[in-house]
Amino acid sequence: MDYKNDLIYIDEVQIRGKKVLIRVDFNVPLDEYSNITDDARIRGVLPTINYCLDEGARIILASHMGRPKGKRVDKMSLAPVARRLARLLGKEVKLLDDCVGPEVEKAVQEMKPGDIVLLENLRFHPGEETNDDAFARELAALCDVYIDDAFAVAHRKHSSVVAITRYAKECAAGFLMKKELNYFIRATQNPLRPLVAVIGGAKVSDKLIALENLLDRVDKLVIGGGMAFTFIKAWGYDVGKSMVEDDMVKTANDILRTSREKGIKFYLPVDCVVADKFDPHAETKVVSIYEIPKDWIAMDIGPATNILFGEALRDARTILWNGPMGVFEMDAFARGTYAMVSHLVNSHALTIVGGGDTDVAIHKAGETSNISYVSTGGGAFLELLKGKDIPALAALRERAKKES
Ligand code: AMP
Repeated sequence: MDYKNDLIYIDEVQIRGKKVLIRVDFNVPLDEYSNITDDARIRGVLPTINYCLDEGARIILASHMGRPKGKRVDKMSLAPVARRLARLLGKEVKLLDDCVGPEVEKAVQEMKPGDIVLLENLRFHPGEETNDDAFARELAALCDVYIDDAFAVAHRKHSSVVAITRYAKECAAGFLMKKELNYFIRATQNPLRPLVAVIGGAKVSDKLIALENLLDRVDKLVIGGGMAFTFIKAWGYDVGKSMVEDDMVKTANDILRTSREKGIKFYLPVDCVVADKFDPHAETKVVSIYEIPKDWIAMDIGPATNILFGEALRDARTILWNGPMGVFEMDAFARGTYAMVSHLVNSHALTIVGGGDTDVAIHKAGETSNISYVSTGGGAFLELLKGKDIPALAALRERAKKES
């Protein structure tokens, strides 16, 4: 499907002085000492929060963190987020002890214009992940206006992004949501051409669906990571113990055929780094993709492929990248992914990266500011790439329809 940016946004509703509940995604990575290792998701919603501050709204922030499975888990508290946000805003951010209940209601009633509270982890309540109506009603009752700025969780049918839109007095989306959708639309609908999609990673079946959807849009496809070996197997070559989804080999073949028919230039690895076991200290060697030894695993693209992929991207005007080129979490197999980061950084294209593991690599390489846009939502971005409507956006649209 083609996306239209047809949501109602925060600057189209009246929020002055009102209680505004903003659903954000503050599910940031933490190290073993609960230090935030990447605060991009927090920085991403600052424009929405600052806008609310300028309007003298009372700001209630709601987020999940991790997977506590419906009960309180202290190490999944949003306390580190409250501290970081307070530092970024230079303003007090009061973390409440829960997200619903009498204590929370009292604290919200006492808020003054410009105050900010952060509700505790929504997923401490089982109702969040079951899209429970009663839980949504309690959350909605806290506010006059509900704002959804949580793109990274927009593909989940959860209470604070779906059911809540049925109960909040007014609903709209935030500026981060707007930015995410605008970049996605720029990359996939009427892009500057050539448009090149670079797809890697390990979610083979999901990404094959995304590829099928991209066939009507792209000029070139570059396939790396675990994804590539289902295609190489479809070509009829042995890939040893490399990642393959056997029941997807036919789909891979269909994609190759359709690409040929449509004149899409299809780039697959020509060589790879293989390992004798899935281990950071495994024995490794570089081989052609036609000569992957029987018991070995292809863990990264090889040096010839890095050059080939660089050439493929040279004339690109738009590049869309989702999924690492290898098992980049292990240093021995990270070279292909970092080479891809460099290709994007050195290109003259609009570069849009679809979150998840790929943005970890970009962040580690220190290149985030040299990419046009790094999405804050890997899973949601992938669902959009698959051409699907996603639950939170559908819910906001549904609500807007009722109002018009
Ligand atoms: P995804 O979530 O689909 O983007 O996949 C990311 C994961 O793909 C990362 O954890 C990588 O380690 C993994 N990956 C990338 N290349 C390979 C490969 N050749 N074999 C196995 N896993 C891979």
